[in-house]
Amino acid sequence: MFTNKELRTLINLKILDMIMDDKESLSDRPPTPTEEDCCGNSCNPCIFDIHKKLIDQWDDNKKSNSKIKSKNLLVPTLYKTFKVIKINEINDDYLTIILHYEDDSHSCIFLNPGQHVIINLLTWSKPFTPITWNNNNIEFLVRVYPNSTFTNKLKNLQVGDQVKIRGPYGEFLYFQNSFKKIIMYCIGSGIAAFYPIIQSIVNNDLEETRIKLFAGFRSVCQIPLKQRLQLLADYWNVEFTIHVTEVEEITTIHNIQIKKEKINENNYKAVLQKESSESTLVLICGNEEFNEALSQWTQECNHINYYVFK
Ligand SMILES: Cc1cc2nc3c(=O)[nH]c(=O)nc-3n(C[C@H](O)[C@H](O)[C@H](O)COP(=O)(O)OP(=O)(O)OC[C@H]3O[C@@H](n4cnc5c(N)ncnc54)[C@H](O)[C@@H]3O)c2cc1C
Repeated sequence: MFTNKELRTLINLKILDMIMDDKESLSDRPPTPTEEDCCGNSCNPCIFDIHKKLIDQWDDNKKSNSKIKSKNLLVPTLYKTFKVIKINEINDDYLTIILHYEDDSHSCIFLNPGQHVIINLLTWSKPFTPITWNNNNIEFLVRVYPNSTFTNKLKNLQVGDQVKIRGPYGEFLYFQNSFKKIIMYCIGSGIAAFYPIIQSIVNNDLEETRIKLFAGFRSVCQIPLKQRLQLLADYWNVEFTIHVTEVEEITTIHNIQIKKEKINENNYKAVLQKESSESTLVLICGNEEFNEALSQWTQECNHINYYVFK
């Protein structure tokens, strides 16, 4: 038998359950005790009182989390000032840079994988695609060109220097299991757009989509994020092929297939023609010439589901 108080609590909990069931996943919600869990001896505290308290706390946490979530630290129309906390020169051509935002504990960085931001240094601004991020840190992969003012300015930044960022931009949005296969083609720093997309797919246990990434680089030594790419290639649903143009001593990388030929019309069309156009999404990210050529070849292969990052 229940006391009136226990019965009221039970009814309240059941109503709350029904509302919550309707609204969202209850994975972290404290489990509701069953009627058998109560001994009926008017214990103090009763199991239902404890549960009610836990539910109130959980509800408050959820409300404050959703308040935080609604506030993106990044704003498309306003530069936010970040500080350099780490620069890692990968090789002569690539570096990674991690920036930190200090001033705000009530907002976080929210980005869809593949979106880009604008980095500003004094009077120069260029788009870059974050490869990783958390609440207030953001990491970029930068291709440094010898004759490029901007990328050399990024290369010469010191820990503690200030960098401004606005964003995010870019319409690409991937929905879980919306395609059976994703074929990704990139050259050079274009890998920056694909890395977070692949990461988000392999991190999702419910994903059944298979990914084939084809990336073009000058040589095996030049490939950035090598170890991170190898880790991604360990997943059952990820396959990597790297096209290199320069022949050199290192010819294999564990988990990654190396092809000593440029990405060209023949090898591209051979890959696409094997795939179903309805269930395959093609993603392209390179320079203007690369994007234009691959878009044309994609259409010639009658693949309609493709997106170009530019
Ligand atoms: C949406 C978007 C996202 C981007 N994300 C990234 C990113 O995450 N990481 C990154 O490193 N870059 C990225 N870029 C490119 C970046 O914004 C700059 O365009 C690039 O760093 C060149 O800057 P720059 O000032 O040197 O350009 P420019 O002054 O236009 O170029 C200077 C010289 O650099 C060389 N160069 C520039 N671009 C290329 C190219 N694509 N291929 C071959 N040679 C080139 C040329 O020799 C050129 O003469 C992105 C671009 C776009 C549009």
